[in-house]
Amino acid sequence: MSELNSLILERIRDVPDYPKQGVLFKDITPLLADPVAMTAVVDELAGLHQVDKIVGIEARGFILAAPVAYRAGAGFVPVRKKGKLPAATLEESYDLEYGSATVEVHRDALAPGERVLVIDDVLATGGTAAATVELVRRTGAEIVGVAVLMELAFLRGRERLTGVPLHSLVIV
Ligand code: IMP
Repeated sequence: MSELNSLILERIRDVPDYPKQGVLFKDITPLLADPVAMTAVVDELAGLHQVDKIVGIEARGFILAAPVAYRAGAGFVPVRKKGKLPAATLEESYDLEYGSATVEVHRDALAPGERVLVIDDVLATGGTAAATVELVRRTGAEIVGVAVLMELAFLRGRERLTGVPLHSLVIV
């Protein structure tokens, strides 16, 4: 196992039955609190691709994406849950286990041809990341990859990201 792998794995805490019974939640707050591990993660993500914009997915994705954008010399663009962005937006809905969710991006946040990397903390079923990729594509920007700290392989989210390079710093 690589050094980065263990730096991450040792700092992600399993919380049983959160947010509901039967879910084993991956809590990244111990990693966020560790400056050595955070620096290693941010440097790794910033070195993946040459990009113009880093898109962060609300809310934990923001915490990673903003320092990566700074480090990569790129702009930061938030993708938020419906109703949180103040100006004109594009929106994309996706199915959840019960019901659906909608994510939005400002219409003018990305320009055609801009190179974009999407960042989130955890890839679970892949619905959130796939909807975000679709939003980016609709702006005309070029999606160069999706990067996550942790991929939960048993939920097969990777299969919903066809044609997009997926970089998972750890896969469990
Ligand atoms: P998906 O759409 O099912 O892939 O869920 C991914 C979204 O839910 C991401 O924005 C994650 O922040 C969040 N998420 C799902 N499971 C976990 C978890 O175990 N820990 C932290 N975030 C999670």
